[in-house]
Amino acid sequence: MALEDLAPNQTSGLVCAHHHLYSALAPGMPAPPRTPTSFRDILELVWWRLDRALDLEMLEWSAKLGALEAIEAGTTAIVDHHESPNVIEGSLDVIANACAEVGVRVNCSYGVTDRHGTEGAQRGLEENRRYLAAGGVGMVGVHAAFTCEPDTLLAASELAQTHGVGVHIHVAEGTDDLDASDRLRDLSRDNWLLVHGVHLDDNHGLNGYIVHNPRSNMNNSVGYAAPHRLGLPIALGTDGIGAAMLEEFRIAYARLREYDVTATPELPWSWLETGYRITPEAAHDRVTWFDGPIDPWRLAFHTNMKPQSVEIGGEVVYTEGKPTRVDATEIRAKAAEQAQRLFAKLENMV
Ligand SMILES: [Zn+2]
Repeated sequence: MALEDLAPNQTSGLVCAHHHLYSALAPGMPAPPRTPTSFRDILELVWWRLDRALDLEMLEWSAKLGALEAIEAGTTAIVDHHESPNVIEGSLDVIANACAEVGVRVNCSYGVTDRHGTEGAQRGLEENRRYLAAGGVGMVGVHAAFTCEPDTLLAASELAQTHGVGVHIHVAEGTDDLDASDRLRDLSRDNWLLVHGVHLDDNHGLNGYIVHNPRSNMNNSVGYAAPHRLGLPIALGTDGIGAAMLEEFRIAYARLREYDVTATPELPWSWLETGYRITPEAAHDRVTWFDGPIDPWRLAFHTNMKPQSVEIGGEVVYTEGKPTRVDATEIRAKAAEQAQRLFAKLENMV
């Protein structure tokens, strides 16, 4: 965004440093069987049911819808973290292909976990390995330390090293994962994405980027990360609640300001810019906004910024309110059909 050839109403492409494209169909989903009363409940009653219900057709249209929503918001790069325990093999290709069709950059990873036994963890590792070995842009995903055995964490770390990429992992999002720093300290590297970090101690001793997801953290009532206390570079993600990064920036600013009335929007704006260290190509993408100038103080209070056009890798993928490569109406219609299938499955799930 600091590039010199930008017009006053332009930015580079925005980066969502932590997304779950599989959750794009979730808005409007049936209520869980009982009201969740803790973060663990939210995982067990909402997200760990949703991921088990997914098949590859649902995933395809969920990812296309999520990719479409990203370019509509000026986001040109998505760092995705995926789980679909009943359809693991090939799932990262489905996501990568969906994003390629829409024209959005994506970095894929499969969230390895021992929640579905050792075999489930092995299949997750294998999907990461298969995808990376075939030349896919990605990282090695791990759900979180608290759902993984030590051997699984070690295997994921070694696989990432082998492919010269980092590990993308939820860290200390809730109190169930309080010992994450002890378990990951000897494994983490500078290229890891440590997502959330809400309950990390200031002297956690981990390496990598912190990915801050302020709206998700508020929605899950897990507490405020105050990520700038953690001594690592900070990027912004949505944790699957869309990919509107200017909106996430505004939420990050409002939440920071609630915590510290002297804080300025320049700090959360710098968190958006950290995205270019994770996906450098997005710095060369161009978003032309309906309104300028681009100024953190102005944008922190401007709730109606819309892209006029979006250019990714030199190609215009969005202009005059429409994507250029795909039919937005068709994607929304197909995604709505798949959402109905998904919701029916959730209603019938024990
Ligand atoms: Zn997440």
